[in-house]
Amino acid sequence: MKVETAADGSPRIAIFTVAIDGPAAAGKGTISRALAERFGLSHLDTGLLYRATGRRVLRGEPPEQAARSLSSDDLTAGDLRTPQVAQEASRVAAMPTVREALVAFQRSFAQRAGGAVLDGRDIGTVICPEADLKLFVTASDAVRAARRHRELVAAGHDLTLEQVLADLRDRDARDAARDAAPMVAARDALLLDTTELSIDAAVDKAVNAIKQKLEQGRK
Ligand code: C5P
Repeated sequence: MKVETAADGSPRIAIFTVAIDGPAAAGKGTISRALAERFGLSHLDTGLLYRATGRRVLRGEPPEQAARSLSSDDLTAGDLRTPQVAQEASRVAAMPTVREALVAFQRSFAQRAGGAVLDGRDIGTVICPEADLKLFVTASDAVRAARRHRELVAAGHDLTLEQVLADLRDRDARDAARDAAPMVAARDALLLDTTELSIDAAVDKAVNAIKQKLEQGRK
């Protein structure tokens, strides 16, 4: 956290970083967007960087080159959310050269004026180990698969719940087992299990945690 003095002499938070990690479809994205809106933070869904890299690799580009040449257009491509791209994202995400290529962008995003929230798998452990607040969001496999299935069907994909569950389990296993920045909760992360907790209740908990940190920072 960096506190500046405003023109009227009062303290103002200049940099505040929130790191949100956890497995696919646990609610990280919804919580991140709600926090960004509530506190005026910039938000980066870091999964998009790996998805965009995977999408380029599926089109024949070498992985590291794909990661190094991402543009903002890559991050808004319409087909980033497909299960095929998600699987390839998780394969390229296990490559240290790909991860290294994406570190600088993520770290500089985290330093944005006004603060930032980044969500992914290794934000609290590798990208922003000094984050002001770390959350690790989980939910049971069944609940996560049902949520992702609803989203994909709403977006026009023809997939069964079983296919979505298999995709999530496959990716989680690969993301947790890899050597390079595996998905794991940081020791100082606040754990939020959204299996029984509504997303609104999870957002409330996260909002309160940020308020506490901001209070401490103002003292
Ligand atoms: O979050 P999302 O499901 O979009 O991420 C797609 C894949 O990108 C994940 O399965 C994971 O392999 C990879 N990823 C990662 N580190 C991050 C964000 C995503 O390895 N910080």
